[in-house]
This record gives sequence, C-alpha cells and structure tokens, in this order.
Amino acid sequence: MKLLIVEDDADTSSFVKYVLEQERFDVLTAGSAFEARGYLKSFKPDLVILDRGLPDADGLDFCRELKMLPQYAHIPVLFLSAAKTPADVVDGFNSGGSDYMTKPFGFIELVARVQSLLRKPAPAITHA
Ligand code: CA
Repeated sequence: MKLLIVEDDADTSSFVKYVLEQERFDVLTAGSAFEARGYLKSFKPDLVILDRGLPDADGLDFCRELKMLPQYAHIPVLFLSAAKTPADVVDGFNSGGSDYMTKPFGFIELVARVQSLLRKPAPAITHA
C-alpha cells in the first residue's frame, strides 16, 4: 500500500516515513501542497497523511480540494496536526478527513490508525 505524507516539518515527516516503512508501506513525502499534487498524479497513494499548516496551503483546504476531485475523493485523509481543540478536530472531519491525530503522537497509534483507514472506504464529503 502506498502512503503520501504531506508535511513541511522535516523531522516529523522523516519520523513518520521511517515508522511506516518499517510496516512495509511504500511511503513518499511532500513538503507542500504543490508537491503533493504532483505525487497524487504520479504515485497514486492509497492514503494521505496531511499536516494542516503547509507553506502554500491550509491543510483543510487541501483536503476539500481532494474530496472535490473524483479521481482523488476516495483516498482517505488522516490529519496529523498540532491544532487539537475539539473545534479543530471537527474542522478536520468536516473538510473530508477520515481521521485526525494530534501532535505529539505515538507511532503505535499512528500505525494502527493507518491500518484501520486502509481497511475501509473513505466517507463522501458533505458540502456545507
Ligand atoms: Ca506544518
């Protein structure tokens, strides 16, 4: 299974990549929404792990963008964000996210959530 990590923080990104590669996932990292758009086309990930604060986009907007494109709407999005109030988490789900983890996070939980998401289809977005 192929995972795309969209995260501009290099430490977080390389840690998540390392952990998921140990689980035998095929992992690519993108440091911006722009880079991620290119990988969506060429790499065709089965799941996207998405930071909210990207240099060129709000992760929530990027998730909405994916959910409105028929070729990507089925890909589950797991938010990984320092924004952790209940409202932040709700915003993540309302933008089409399938799951939401807050930083700091434990890698065992991250792996379990990724595996869980890959077992079920992503929900369709409900437009506000
Ligand atoms: Ca960030």
